[in-house]
Amino acid sequence: MAKPSTLGEHLAQQGVSRRGFLKFCTATASLMALPPAMIPMVARALEAARRPSVIWLSFQECTGCTESLTRSHNPTVEGLIFNAISLDYHHTLQAAAGEAAEHARETAMKENAGKYLLVVDGAIPMKDGGVYSTIAGVSNYDMLVETARNAAAVVAVGSCAAFGGIPKANPNPTGAVPVTDIVTDKPVINVSGCPPIPTVITGVLAHFLTFGKLPELDAYNRPRMFYGDSIHDRCYRRPFYDQGKFAETFDDEGAREGWCLYKLGCKGPTTYNACATVKWNGGISFPIQSGHGCLGCSEPDFWDAGDFYKALSTPRKPVGDWATLGLAAGAVAGAAAGLSARATRNRARTRREPVTVDDLKEEV
Ligand code: SF4
Ligand code: SF4
Repeated sequence: MAKPSTLGEHLAQQGVSRRGFLKFCTATASLMALPPAMIPMVARALEAARRPSVIWLSFQECTGCTESLTRSHNPTVEGLIFNAISLDYHHTLQAAAGEAAEHARETAMKENAGKYLLVVDGAIPMKDGGVYSTIAGVSNYDMLVETARNAAAVVAVGSCAAFGGIPKANPNPTGAVPVTDIVTDKPVINVSGCPPIPTVITGVLAHFLTFGKLPELDAYNRPRMFYGDSIHDRCYRRPFYDQGKFAETFDDEGAREGWCLYKLGCKGPTTYNACATVKWNGGISFPIQSGHGCLGCSEPDFWDAGDFYKALSTPRKPVGDWATLGLAAGAVAGAAAGLSARATRNRARTRREPVTVDDLKEEV
């Protein structure tokens, strides 16, 4: 049987029906927050898309990002996308080992020069000549520079590759740095999280497949379609936050009632990720739904950012207070102006700068 050259041919050869393919396109369009009217366009683009070569390098990491990706339940968008790319090199998932594996990487680089996607998970140790993590005797730094040279783009998967993550946490014994400290001459997209949501990893690949380019990014090079809102913005416990109803311990009445976890250290207000909307394990739940606050794992330096169980600051006044305060007209106008300024600031922040702990203190 001839080797399929497009994604449409590949899926047809795998026995995926037209109906199944259109379902896949619908899911992909919704993943990318595209309106239903764009589904036929997505179908046409995906059908004709060439399967891109992907080289996946794992550096100073725990394999959690790969575990996350493979924890998808078939048949899913993740599974299909994973089959739809040509994964030419991946330490954990490839069958080849030793020289054959390195040969596969070199061949993929040569045959797809300028067109392959390089995915990296893990930070890069720079101290002592990079001796703390090597593959086939090559330091992570040298392998990254060599493989990135002819890549179309680089996807830094997980907070270690995106921001240095836990390897870079104080006292950073190996001198770990993120991908963006080394690759500066081509697009690097950060898919942060410890680990990232599998659907978010595949959503970025889906976007590349469909449009042949990377999605729009935020100030931290993260795809805005997944990192545009804070966990707090989309959290189903938010009405309790607004009403000033907080769990004080993990087993009090408030915790049992599902109240807000802010006072138990939830970092949702300063964390940008899709956990509250896309969720985990096929959309079943996410940490806050399971009763634990967000740790802020998709933000830079989250491990050193302070106590996971200490509140960020004093929560804002309950929304209801504004109604009961009986403010004078001038004060109301002032408050409205303040709220409008804050809304403008928040909109700008959502676009460019994530909210910081200091911003929250301002709002107390
Ligand atoms: S503080 Fe945390 S639990 Fe409370 S509403 Fe925000 S994200 Fe949800
Ligand atoms: S809820 Fe927060 S800590 Fe948990 S996975 Fe999502 S971003 Fe990371």
